[in-house]
Amino acid sequence: MLIIGPPGSGKGTQAERISERLGVVAISTGDIFRANVKSETPLGVEAKKYMDAGDFVPDSVTNKMVRDRLGESDVEDGFLLDGYPRTTAQVDYLDEILADGNQRLDVVVQLTADDEELVARLLVRAKETGRSDDNEVVIRHRLDLYHEQTEVVVAKYAERGILARVDGIGIIDEITERAIQAHQSLVFP
Ligand code: AMP
Repeated sequence: MLIIGPPGSGKGTQAERISERLGVVAISTGDIFRANVKSETPLGVEAKKYMDAGDFVPDSVTNKMVRDRLGESDVEDGFLLDGYPRTTAQVDYLDEILADGNQRLDVVVQLTADDEELVARLLVRAKETGRSDDNEVVIRHRLDLYHEQTEVVVAKYAERGILARVDGIGIIDEITERAIQAHQSLVFP
C-alpha cells in the first residue's frame, strides 16, 4: 500500500495508524532521511541540502535507499510506503523493485486537502516541532512540487484502478476509518 498526499495532509500520522490496523510495517522516506540527518551519516549530509530547501532529494539517492529498505525481512508480509514515489521516475523504479520481489501494490491512498489549510497547519507544526523545512517559503515550494510532480503520480495509479481518494480534513480517527474502508473495498471488491 502507498499513502500519498501534500505536505501537511497528515500522511505520517495516518500511515502509522493504518499500518497498525493492517499489521504491516510503515516506511516513511522523510523519516529515514530525517534520522540520517540527525545522526549525520553521509546520506543525511547529502539529503539535508535538498530537504532544507524543500526540494526533492535526487532519485539516485532516494531510489537506492528505498530498494535497500524494501529488501529487509520485515516487509515480506506487506508494507505501507509513506512519501514515495513522488515522481513518475520513482513510480517506474518502484515497479521494478516490486517485480523483482514478486510483489504488487494493492491500494494507493491519496489524502486530499486545500492548499491554504495545509499552509496554516504546517505553520502551526513549525512552531511545535521546529522542523527546518516548515517555514512559509519552503512550505509553498513543497506544495508547488506536489502539484507539479506528484499529482501525475496519483493519476498513474488512478489509471491502474488502485487509487482511493480520502478527504484528509476532519477528525484523525475518522480519516483513518475512511482510509481503511477504501483499502477494504479495493482489496475485497
Ligand atoms: P516528508 O516527511 O514526506 O514531507 O519528506 C520530507 C522531505 O524529505 C521532502 O521535502 C524531501 O526533501 C525528502 N523526501 C522524502 N521523500 C522523498 C522522495 N520520495 N523523493 C525525494 N525526496 C523525498
